[in-house]
Amino acid sequence: MSPRVVRTVAGARRLRREAREAGRRVAFVPTMGALHEGHLALVRRARALGDEVWVSIFVNPTQFGPGEDYDRYPRDLEGDTRLLEREGVATVFAPAEREMYPEPPAVTVGFGGLEDVLCGASRPGHFAGVGLVVLKLFHIVEPDVAVFGQKDAQQAVLIRRLVADLDLPVRIEVAPTVREGDGLAMSSRNRYLGPEERAAAPALYRALQAGRRAVASGETGPAAVEAAMRAVLAAEPRLGVEYAACVDPRSLQPPAGIAGPVLLAVAARLGGARLIDNVLASPDGVHPETLSDLDRAGGFR
Ligand code: AMP
Repeated sequence: MSPRVVRTVAGARRLRREAREAGRRVAFVPTMGALHEGHLALVRRARALGDEVWVSIFVNPTQFGPGEDYDRYPRDLEGDTRLLEREGVATVFAPAEREMYPEPPAVTVGFGGLEDVLCGASRPGHFAGVGLVVLKLFHIVEPDVAVFGQKDAQQAVLIRRLVADLDLPVRIEVAPTVREGDGLAMSSRNRYLGPEERAAAPALYRALQAGRRAVASGETGPAAVEAAMRAVLAAEPRLGVEYAACVDPRSLQPPAGIAGPVLLAVAARLGGARLIDNVLASPDGVHPETLSDLDRAGGFR
């Protein structure tokens, strides 16, 4: 059955009320569309966690900076809806920009500095925009559970804080990063890559693996782990490295010494694309796949 596609906030609220009255738990996957297997894996995870799955498709202008790819970001609502039909998705919420932002929002969402490191350092305002749109979507959809990808680790960290700090009644689940066969994390932005750039792109994942090896072999200095990752990235001259970081998965700051799981994260420009990737790494060599796995293993003290 085709998903119901709703374009208005009022329409979404109506359907949500019906689901609640029927006692159905809603599992929600927010996206910007141009869906790929990574998104579909989140949808499958959502199906296991709720009675019906809702997906939002909204290229959120407030999380794009000037000169970023808002205008050329790929949009294909019809193709996306076909993919979601195969996954048994109940509802697609695909609002127009003026439905979400009838006027420029005055309220901003801050994260006490968590939004200024890693990707936030080169994308000022990005996470304020993410926080705002996710908060709005949560108020519209009122999901019981929402699924995010480990691929955007900093985003997942911030959303978890948003939910915890504001007591939002939604469970956040972080699902593993889905990769191409050569390790490249799937991304809607990979389609910006030309063939030679595409061939260079797996260096990000190779760098993360080098970082994991360093952590698992007993390296306790975050700077040395970062150097191991940078050495791999430097071998690929097409990459404009933005950061290669070894940080605490909660504070996003470098730990004084690596004594437990750390987040290894890289970002680089490659041709017309900006690529990001990350893994968790543990000194005992048993690397959690996601922030949720880390929780379940009691990794957040
Ligand atoms: P986006 O459409 O890029 O805003 O992403 C929507 C959701 O899909 C976010 O929670 C992302 O973290 C997640 N996501 C994107 N790419 C992947 C991937 N390769 N594997 C797992 N999740 C992903």
